[in-house]
Amino acid sequence: MFPTTPETRTQSSIRNYPLPALLRHVMSACFVALFLPLALAAETAAPAIIPLPAKMEILAGTFVITSETVIVADAASSATARQLAGYLKPAAGFALPVAAQVPAGAKTTITLTQDPNLTRLGQEGYLLNVTPDGIRIVSAAQAGLFYGVQTLRQLLPPQVFAATPAKGITWTVPCVAIEDHPRFTWRGLMLDSGHDFQNKDFVKRFIDLMALHKLNLFHWHLTDLGTWSFEINGRPKLLEAATRGPGVKPGHYTRDEIREVVGYAAALHITILPEIDMPGHEPPALLAYPELDCQQPRGVDKNGKPNRPWEFCVGNEKTYVFLEEVLSQVADLFPGPYIHIGGDECPKDRWLGCPLCQAKMKAENLHNGEELQSYFIKRIGKFLEFRNRRMIGWDEILEGGLAPNATVMSWRGMGKGIAAAKAGHDVVMAPTAWTYFDYPDTPVEKVYGFEPVPKELDAVQAAHVLGAQAQMWTDNHPSEDRIDALVYPRAAALAEVVWSPVASRDYDAFVVRLQGHLPRLAALGVHYKPLAAAGTVIGHWTAEHTSPTPKLVDWPLATGVKGTGKYDITFQYEGGKSRYQIHAVEIVQDGKVLATDKHFGWTGASDHDNVYHVELPQLSKAPLILRATVSTDFGPDSRGRILIGKTP
Ligand SMILES: [Zn+2]
Repeated sequence: MFPTTPETRTQSSIRNYPLPALLRHVMSACFVALFLPLALAAETAAPAIIPLPAKMEILAGTFVITSETVIVADAASSATARQLAGYLKPAAGFALPVAAQVPAGAKTTITLTQDPNLTRLGQEGYLLNVTPDGIRIVSAAQAGLFYGVQTLRQLLPPQVFAATPAKGITWTVPCVAIEDHPRFTWRGLMLDSGHDFQNKDFVKRFIDLMALHKLNLFHWHLTDLGTWSFEINGRPKLLEAATRGPGVKPGHYTRDEIREVVGYAAALHITILPEIDMPGHEPPALLAYPELDCQQPRGVDKNGKPNRPWEFCVGNEKTYVFLEEVLSQVADLFPGPYIHIGGDECPKDRWLGCPLCQAKMKAENLHNGEELQSYFIKRIGKFLEFRNRRMIGWDEILEGGLAPNATVMSWRGMGKGIAAAKAGHDVVMAPTAWTYFDYPDTPVEKVYGFEPVPKELDAVQAAHVLGAQAQMWTDNHPSEDRIDALVYPRAAALAEVVWSPVASRDYDAFVVRLQGHLPRLAALGVHYKPLAAAGTVIGHWTAEHTSPTPKLVDWPLATGVKGTGKYDITFQYEGGKSRYQIHAVEIVQDGKVLATDKHFGWTGASDHDNVYHVELPQLSKAPLILRATVSTDFGPDSRGRILIGKTP
């Protein structure tokens, strides 16, 4: 499932051709475009491939796919060949035939070949050669061939991604020589179906989009505070509406639907990592089976209602019976090598007051809550080993001592991942600051700049970093369109982080390619967030605009507003000892508040929700004022600027 890839041997980018290729390109451009200005001809040079291939040369000429083109595939590659035909058919309006040999009279061919001797590129690497006479993709395994097909899709005009026939398009492919393979074996995206539920078709589309970006690990967070999202044989109570949290969309996946999604992903060379969160984050299970809760009364909330339960009683043997039953069925449904057991954010205080938990601590000679949690995690880890699965958990599983062979998902920064890798554990990097896609204001550029291998690790330790992934949590019950906008195009930036050679990382060049990539997402119906237009600076803050307690500050809004519509107002820290905290933002005209965004954000060494969203109605000619309620946390030494721009 996770083939090893060779060390990154080559690094090149579109700007880094070997000289002969560059000469060939210039010569071909001159030949093809004798009467065109050279600059225009050169503009046709760089196909917008995301993630950027390890090595790519642009060659002379083009190949055109027509209804006469035949896909020729050996026996091992025929399914991948049919996938390629399936990808082209909706937009092209014709289905290319798949043949085992070049048919007599075939005008042009696309050849897919599995060559077991091509080991230097690993199972996921491939060669893709386009010449005026044909297209050839070769790989040691079907995964690599499939990625070659994904690259070929991106070499075609973006209309190829449309769901209905695109009229008047010539399916031209530029001639290229590509040699490609991924940097990391773990290239993940998490979808949270445990806070809120998404229907099966949305999940399959999520997986489709991952495949386009050569991501190969779908982390499916199946249970959490909101809902238990799938069927467990013999445990129907888990699915009862009474166990669901407020605002959760109703629904669950049947076992057949889970199998369907697993098979669907496998055909796209994507492994599903199922997560059952434990010992905390489990109100649905505990509302269904209250006997698995610690036997003591729960507190009440401010309305006098009992708090939703949170953590299993880990002193009660019935908890282990339940979880082993669940994990056995999970292992039957999901064939991947790993099972994720969560392990995050579990308070220990109730355990310390529970007679069953206390008895367990005494019997096992455990001294505190952390050691009790560690006992629980290790015991679950042993059970998974017995089921021939590897355990992975959020970095809290390090507390109280980590189970041998456990893999750690580092989310609270990189430090836990560094500690785990130094201790010889495998690590997946998933830190909040770069990879939590439910955080709306983490810019694409920041995601693109993420480096999964910290400098603190030597070569041996760094080899424990399997890769990285991004998280799409659904605590706020986002709509499907909102999930699209949170994930894309940031997932395209992540794809490049985990696939492309580190030395080829160049944000400006990425943005140029992204401009070519977004029309593909549009054709696929993805409601991606457009790239931010650069806002207009409308003011600055310095010491005089600060206060230890919240105070109102006005800035004249003389520029930047162009009529009605939605605007983003960004507070951007530029220096000083103190971060700038924003409690509310208002747009005022003629003494009237036209729009307001009241949420707490800050900007400093790190930013948190520092973008304010307002919608402006028809405006009069009177001057506009930006009025913000602000404070600072460490004195008046803070400075920065405020930008306004139309919401992209
Ligand atoms: Zn207990």
